[in-house]
Amino acid sequence: MSPRDDRAIDEHIARLIAPEVRALSAYSVADAAGLIKLDAMENPYPWPAELKAEWIERLRAVDVNRYPDPKAGRLKDRLRDALDVPACADLLLGNGSDELIQLLILAIGGSGSVVFAPDPSFAMYALVTRATGRRFESVALDESDFSLCIDGTLEAIARHRPALTFIAYPNNPTGNLFDVAHVEAILEASPGVVVVDEAYAPFAEKSFFPQLGERPNLLVLRTVSKLGLAGLRLGVLAGAPAWINELDKLRLPYNLNVLSQVSAELALEHYALFQAQTRQIVRDRDTLYARLEGMNSIEVWPSSANFLLMRTAPGTGSTTVAALRERGVLVKDVGGASPLLRDCVRVTVGRPEENAAFVAALEEIIAA
Ligand code: PMP
Repeated sequence: MSPRDDRAIDEHIARLIAPEVRALSAYSVADAAGLIKLDAMENPYPWPAELKAEWIERLRAVDVNRYPDPKAGRLKDRLRDALDVPACADLLLGNGSDELIQLLILAIGGSGSVVFAPDPSFAMYALVTRATGRRFESVALDESDFSLCIDGTLEAIARHRPALTFIAYPNNPTGNLFDVAHVEAILEASPGVVVVDEAYAPFAEKSFFPQLGERPNLLVLRTVSKLGLAGLRLGVLAGAPAWINELDKLRLPYNLNVLSQVSAELALEHYALFQAQTRQIVRDRDTLYARLEGMNSIEVWPSSANFLLMRTAPGTGSTTVAALRERGVLVKDVGGASPLLRDCVRVTVGRPEENAAFVAALEEIIAA
């Protein structure tokens, strides 16, 4: 294309793409080829051969010339059983819980309304809010243990009156569960909807599901990604039927493709396998925590999720991440995500040998 054409494209973009979108950077995902991948909270275990064989058989029977079941009825039944969804709740399924976060932000409040979440928390809440012309407000978590600063949070909720509040429980990237009484106080004080995002519930064994029938402004968000099915892209929003009915109007008709539906159904028939892997990951998390806790110059926080947040010596967060990468280990540099996270690194719990390789590389870097 000629420089003149490039200029014309730039002019179109400046005129047509909303300024709040132009101001954003796309969510970036590091290239993990050939690396030990401890950056994205995935389950590190591939499916056993027998399950893969059964899977291929199921996929063989799928007619991809037809649209998928728009209501995903069979999959919803399986999810209800596996996740123990309360009978009073209906489900809305998304292409990952990311899609449901986007749908909630689009549906609730309208443009100019406020979305609230503590800081730091899952990046997508702020990103989608800003991209859609809504206002994002937050209150910093406690600097030492990342608990909710509840007085400041309630004050901010009274001032900004958010239409939508996200509470990640456990929180990403800090890994902690907030005090239940604090989340309940937020639910009581909020004029808007509060979404408790339980993406890491498989590792935490705590949930706001039991409160769904009692609180008119509570919705609970889940995903099967951290359980071991990140590639399928399946998120689940649970809430009162009237809420789900409204939100369903914004869902694109066939948002869950047929291959994901069939694959997730099969996986949930083998739920015990994923539960066993989850228990293993929790044990390995605790082992990894103990190793990091014993290391000079590393600060690490307790976690109820499948990752750990740690802080390296002042000024060395990013260089440590780069040095780990040179040694074949990919972790997430979260130092720039919030003023509270300077020199912080998030590491996903992998297989025991991957965790050991990470620890060995980190020890080598610290000793150098
Ligand atoms: N919520 C939280 C708190 C997360 O950490 C993540 C993924 N990192 C998601 C939602 C999105 O998960 P998915 O789209 O894979 O369901």
